[in-house]
Amino acid sequence: MLKRVLIANRGEIALRVLRACRELEIETVAAYSEADAEALHVQLATESVCIGPARAADSYLNQDALLTAALATGCDGIHPGYGFLSENADFSDACAKAGLTFIGPSGEAIRKAGSKSAARDLMKAAGVPVTPGSDGPVSSVEEALAAAEAVGWPVLLKASAGGGGRGIRRCDGPDELPAACAEAKAEAAACFGNDEMYLEKLVLNPRHVEVQILADRQGHTIHLGDRDCSVQRRNQKLMEEAPAPGLSPALRRAMGEAAVRAAEAVGYEGAGTVEFLVDGENFYFMEMNTRIQVEHGVTELVTGVDLVRQQLRIASGLPLDMGQEDVSIRGCAMECRVNAEDPHGDFRPCPGKVEFLHFPGGAGVRVDSCLYNGCTMSPYYDSLAAKVLAHGATRLETIRKLRRCLEEFTLEGFPTNAELSYEILFHPVFVRGRCTTGFLDAHLAELLDFSRRVEEKEAEA
Ligand code: ADP
Ligand code: ADP
Ligand code: MG
Repeated sequence: MLKRVLIANRGEIALRVLRACRELEIETVAAYSEADAEALHVQLATESVCIGPARAADSYLNQDALLTAALATGCDGIHPGYGFLSENADFSDACAKAGLTFIGPSGEAIRKAGSKSAARDLMKAAGVPVTPGSDGPVSSVEEALAAAEAVGWPVLLKASAGGGGRGIRRCDGPDELPAACAEAKAEAAACFGNDEMYLEKLVLNPRHVEVQILADRQGHTIHLGDRDCSVQRRNQKLMEEAPAPGLSPALRRAMGEAAVRAAEAVGYEGAGTVEFLVDGENFYFMEMNTRIQVEHGVTELVTGVDLVRQQLRIASGLPLDMGQEDVSIRGCAMECRVNAEDPHGDFRPCPGKVEFLHFPGGAGVRVDSCLYNGCTMSPYYDSLAAKVLAHGATRLETIRKLRRCLEEFTLEGFPTNAELSYEILFHPVFVRGRCTTGFLDAHLAELLDFSRRVEEKEAEA
């Protein structure tokens, strides 16, 4: 087993990793930026090292600083969390070269799965259905036009290196293509330092369903069921649940098997997610995320499997301690992401000082957050303040529990989207488990009208 792990991340995921390490009696080193000196995970770690200024490029993305910190503090492993360097193939390789265990897949596997356009080709070869789209990247507006005409409008232009819903543009016809190309390329260059684009046919009113997988170094790959992440705002996830509601058993089985094939096709190791679009009984591969995901907790609640613990075990060279037949799904779990943003001000991020904080509790309730009373959320990083999760025997029980949790949840000091999530939990489309990825954008105005009384909404639901 690993002995000492450097946590190359911050916020709630740094704390989540720290907790799993402590339970396995692995020591932790918090690598933190100047902006995070007071962070909870820094206070709780065995040791901590400041790796640079607040700007991510100078700290959490500074590979040399992280490697030096890990070696200087006697670490044998590095956990990258999500975002930052978690899907960086060069960083995985650099860790290996320095004699450190990267808690994630090899650089080679990340390279294969991480370029979203290259991954499509691999998946096709492995017999996994993909969204109709360009064969590989499109390098000019003319190439994009030819690919779009071949698959049919509307299309999405997508950044090969994309993530977090960035570098994606919809295009309804040839006239829109040049501007969409320019915009998507500029955003991708700014976010990912890589403006390679590819193109997919826009699937109308799909659901986003993803499958969690685990693979060990001994060649065993299993999946831990699916999650529905269709509640999105501008391609960014807001609420997630496991299992995905209303999938037919045949579709569910086919997607689980396809996810395992996808992982095997890239020589995957560790925890990962295969994302699909679902359209009726059809499903299409969208991308593979080669890291722990923000919404992993809902899978943990319904399977009872600690995914970060599994990551640490796998990276330590241990074989999976369960087979596919040992995985069973119990009840339903839901998560809402509470972001420091103003839903009434175009979702402008507005982090600040936490003046008062109260988290809900009780049976089947989990809150993942690095916040505490009096701490300050930094404007330098993403605006995720807390994840509130509930687990119940049935979907309706879980919805009611999560409503209760959000009634209790109190965060004073800056605006959040918590009230919006609360409203979603009463919306008939959501309550019936019928959300597609367009749900939130289509119903946003009505959901932001908080004036209706709770009793009325319960009657509607
Ligand atoms: P998940 O599927 O795990 O929810 P998201 O795509 O929502 O993943 O991204 C989770 C977080 O990871 C985002 O809030 C963002 O901070 C970060 N992230 C994702 N992709 C990237 C990327 N390519 N570069 C930087 N940060 C990213
Ligand atoms: P990211 O790497 O930013 O997470 P994804 O490829 O996973 O990007 O897409 C993000 C979201 O965009 C999806 O969850 C889905 O809502 C939407 N999307 C992506 N591709 C398509 C498509 N071909 N048709 C319809 N919606 C899509
Ligand atoms: Mg995605």
